[in-house]
Amino acid sequence: MDTGSWKKITLNHYAGVPIRCIRIELHSEPHYNGAMTAEKPAKPEKPVKKSAKGKPAAKRARRIPYTRDEIAEIFRRFAVQRPEPKGELEHVNAFTLLVAVALSAQATDAGVNKATRGLFAIADTPQKMLTLGEEGVAAHIRTIGLWRNKAKNVIALSRKLVDEFGGMVPQDEASLVTLPGVGRKTANVVRSMAFGVPTLAVDTHVFRIGNRLKLAPGKTPDEVERAFLRIIPPGHLFHAHHWLILHGRYCCTARKPACERCVIADLCKAAEKTTDQPAPLTVLDRNF
Ligand code: SF4
Repeated sequence: MDTGSWKKITLNHYAGVPIRCIRIELHSEPHYNGAMTAEKPAKPEKPVKKSAKGKPAAKRARRIPYTRDEIAEIFRRFAVQRPEPKGELEHVNAFTLLVAVALSAQATDAGVNKATRGLFAIADTPQKMLTLGEEGVAAHIRTIGLWRNKAKNVIALSRKLVDEFGGMVPQDEASLVTLPGVGRKTANVVRSMAFGVPTLAVDTHVFRIGNRLKLAPGKTPDEVERAFLRIIPPGHLFHAHHWLILHGRYCCTARKPACERCVIADLCKAAEKTTDQPAPLTVLDRNF
């Protein structure tokens, strides 16, 4: 007999009542619709890929449309163009550099320099900054965005430097990022410029270039930093931070890249580029 079918059975009586016929459904399983209510069987979990050492494998790097030789050529040209690139934030020591970089978040270097000239003339150490006080700092930096919060941070980081670091700026990233208002980017700039550590701080320009040129694509500054660190030829890492910032600030600008002035136009794979003809490769006597 088929299950789930019905059969016509002729009876004379059912439960004492005379009847002529009854329809009975016959099932081999308990009568519920399993497909409607039961959970789907779970898919077997995919095994986590392990590296040779048995640890979970690192996220695979994205493929980029450049050969190793093309990347080496890009950085070679940057090196010819700006043999000794310099940052544009004015400072007189590691402490004033730290303060200037912290103040530069969402502000231009030119705007920060205008504000810090007077400030650093009277407060170029953490102790002097504490003596000046939050109101005194605020009075100097009122022209910079987020000045109230930044003044608070400058005083808090100065206090921490005096209390925990003997008034000196620490060199290691782990200590630097414990200072109020200091993130990974600020820490990397200070380590590179003040202490000569080859690092790559990703600011808005470096982030844009990494993604626009498809050289170091990433959704976050950390991803872009990791991607750049994978491709920058080792000998060029120390200056790469400034080359990328200056190229982004003066040539490959956010709104309208000046491709006609670009020395890597033939190598660039940006969708926005307007020419394949590279500009003559010469040493720039200014930053632009
Ligand atoms: S060619 Fe244009 S888009 Fe490419 S790096 Fe140069 S300025 Fe930027």
